[in-house]
Amino acid sequence: MSGWSNWSGLETATPTEVVVPDSTEAVVRAVQRAAERGGTVKMVGTGHSFTSISAPEGTMLKPDRQSGILSVDRAAMTVTARAGTPLHLLNSELERLGLSLHNMGDIAEQTLAGATSTGTHGTGGLKASLSAQLSGLELVTGDGTLLRASRTENADVFAAARIGLGALGVLTTLTFDVEPLGLLEAHEMPISWNEGLARYDELIAENHHCDLYWFPHSECMQVKTNNRLDANREPAEPLSRLRSWFDDDLIANSAFGLINAIGNRRPQWVPAFNRLAGRMLSERRYSDVPHRVFTTPRKVVFREMEYAVPREAGLTALREARAVIERHDWAISFPVEIRQTPADDITLGTSTGRESMYLAFHVNAATDHRAYFGAMEEVMVAHGGRPHWGKVHTRTAADLAEAYPRFEEFLALRERLDPERVFANSYLRRVLGD
Ligand SMILES: Cc1cc2nc3c(=O)[nH]c(=O)nc-3n(C[C@H](O)[C@H](O)[C@H](O)COP(=O)(O)OP(=O)(O)OC[C@H]3O[C@@H](n4cnc5c(N)ncnc54)[C@H](O)[C@@H]3O)c2cc1C
Repeated sequence: MSGWSNWSGLETATPTEVVVPDSTEAVVRAVQRAAERGGTVKMVGTGHSFTSISAPEGTMLKPDRQSGILSVDRAAMTVTARAGTPLHLLNSELERLGLSLHNMGDIAEQTLAGATSTGTHGTGGLKASLSAQLSGLELVTGDGTLLRASRTENADVFAAARIGLGALGVLTTLTFDVEPLGLLEAHEMPISWNEGLARYDELIAENHHCDLYWFPHSECMQVKTNNRLDANREPAEPLSRLRSWFDDDLIANSAFGLINAIGNRRPQWVPAFNRLAGRMLSERRYSDVPHRVFTTPRKVVFREMEYAVPREAGLTALREARAVIERHDWAISFPVEIRQTPADDITLGTSTGRESMYLAFHVNAATDHRAYFGAMEEVMVAHGGRPHWGKVHTRTAADLAEAYPRFEEFLALRERLDPERVFANSYLRRVLGD
C-alpha cells in the first residue's frame, strides 16, 4: 500500500486503499462504499499543509484526474474548475483567457480544493484568501449526496464549505470570481525594524498588497508592495530570466538552502547570517501578470506556523514575539512574515468578522520547531489569535471555540452533512471533536 506524507515530511499516514476517481460519480461511489463499511474517506490535495489535516486513515482519494477548467462565464466574470486542479494550472489557463484571480498566496503548487479548504491567503487586496474569491461550489456529503452551494443556494453550506477543512464533504467543482488580466508592479526594498513598524499603517493604506519580512536577531526588514498598473498604458517590465534565476532561484532558494544547512550545524552563526542577509537586501522593481508576481517557487523545505490576530493588536503581538525570541538562545534562520487581510464572512475563516494581521513563523524542515512555535503561539493566543488550518498549531476543539465566534454553527453543519464522520481523521477529531 502506498503511503502518504506531507510536503515538509513532518506528517505521514498509511491509508487502507487508494482510489483515483475520474468523475463526480466515482467520488460519490467511493464515499458511499466507505459509509456502508463504516470506514473513512479522505480526498487529499498536494500535501502542502504543514498539519496532518489531509492525512487519510481509511480510503485515500487522489485528485490526479479531477483537474481542468469546466466553464467560463464572461458576463458574471466567474470561472468554474474541477476541485483538484493545481493552482498554477488555473493561473496559466486564466492568463491565456485574459483573466486572473484577484489575490493568492506565495506558491501555486496546491490544488484549488486543498488551498481553499484551509483558508490559503495572500496579503491585502479586496479579498485576500482564495476562499473569499469563491462564488459557488459543489460537494459530495457523507451519504454520497451531491450538493451545490452559493450565496443564493444552500447559503449556510456555502458560508462554511469555502473553508471546510475537508470535514463537510468532497469538493468536486469550485467557481471563482475573476477579473480582467492586468499587471502588478512589485517593489521590494530593505527597511529597518523601526521604520517598518512606524510606517506600517501608511504602507497598508497606500498599497494594494503589502508583505513585510523581519529577519530575527537583526534590525532588518524587507517590504514588498504590489500595485495594479493600468494594463492599457503600462508595458510589463518583468524580471529578466537571468535576474529571476539569480534572485529567486540562486539566492532565495539555493544560497538560502546552503546557509540553512550550515546554520543547522552551526546555529551560533545564524544571527550573523541574518544580519548579513538583511544588509545584502537590495531594492528592485518589476511588473508582470499577477500570478507571476504573487508566487515564487520554494525549494528550501520548512515547517510553518501562522496566526491571524486582530489588525489593531498586530504590531503589539509582533513586538512581543520579538522580545520573546530575544530572551531565548534560539537560532531562527527564516524571516517572520507579516501580512494583512480584510475581514471575510466565512464560518471558520481566520479573518471572519475582523480585519487581520497574519504573523508567520518558519523553521528549516530539519529543525525541531516545538519550543519556538510553542512560545510564539502563546503570544498569538493572548491576542485572540486564530491558527491557519493548514499550518502547525496545538489548538483543540475546547479552546478553538473561543477563538471562532461561529464554531458551533460549523459543528452543527458537520453533524448534518457528515453525521457518521466518514471524512474524519485525527486532526479533525482534535480541532472539531469526535
Ligand atoms: C511552501 C508553502 C508555501 C505556502 N504558502 C502559503 C501562503 O502564502 N498562504 C497560505 O495561506 N498558505 C500557504 N501555504 C499553505 C497551503 O496553501 C495550504 O496548506 C493548502 O491547504 C495546501 O493545499 P493542498 O492542495 O496541498 O492540500 P492538502 O494539504 O493536501 O489538504 C488540505 C485540506 O484540503 C482537503 N481537501 C483537498 N481536496 C479536497 C476536496 N476535493 N474536497 C474536500 N476537501 C479537500 C484535505 O482533505 C485537507 O483537509 C503554503 C504551504 C507551503 C508548503
